[in-house]
Amino acid sequence: MGTTTLITPAALAESLFNAGQVLLMLDYDGTLVPLAPTPAQARPAAELLRILKKLGGLPQYKVAVISGRTLTDLTTLLPVPGIFLVGGHGIEIGSPAGEVNYLLDYKYITKIINKLEQLAKYCLNNKDGFLLENKGYSLALHYRLAEPSMAQSALNKFIELSKPIIQKHDLNILPGKKVLEIRPAAMHKGKAVNYLQQLYPYSLAVYFGDDTTDEDAFRALKKGLSILVGSQPYDSAANFKLNSPLEVLEFLILLEKQKNVV
Ligand SMILES: [Mg+2]
Repeated sequence: MGTTTLITPAALAESLFNAGQVLLMLDYDGTLVPLAPTPAQARPAAELLRILKKLGGLPQYKVAVISGRTLTDLTTLLPVPGIFLVGGHGIEIGSPAGEVNYLLDYKYITKIINKLEQLAKYCLNNKDGFLLENKGYSLALHYRLAEPSMAQSALNKFIELSKPIIQKHDLNILPGKKVLEIRPAAMHKGKAVNYLQQLYPYSLAVYFGDDTTDEDAFRALKKGLSILVGSQPYDSAANFKLNSPLEVLEFLILLEKQKNVV
């Protein structure tokens, strides 16, 4: 793995000066907007909405926000015309014109996820403290409020019984913070990066992200610049590093100003 070099917002903006067409791809939580105690509290600043709208309207830029959130959720948080919104780690692509494309067989995967939801309901058996979230293309079992030992035995039962389905259909079980998520193995942010770079092959591609799910995007990037946001305990595939979402915003503001000068 290469090294990740700390860069200032000004130096990064300057490196894009005279780059011609730029494809700007950004994660949402922890990258554009600071992490909050709950996802609902992670709201964009008015200044961020203004900048994204401005950049989305400039012909030099294609802007895409790529997140693990659903497209519906992203559309509510970022009511910005003229940019791509990509939900579900790259599965749901909302185009600047408002069209929606799926990067996998949505109907097929939904059928399997529904089957797994039924199985999860059976295993959890109406016990308190669980929350099932069916996103259509993925299933999340939240157990933050469940009694720990009871949660463990219910989840073990689910993992055991769901194994044949998960293996047969090439799904992954991903443990998170008090949540278990099941989703297609083929679904990750790198897919969205490939899709967008194919649409804009002559643009300089730049990707910003703060989390392990962004590493797929960093690795998928063909040429271009990858920027890690914040400090992470793992080795990142990113070329550069900014310190915080605040510096990402600072960079976007500088980019907009630069274009005004040209
Ligand atoms: Mg993030």
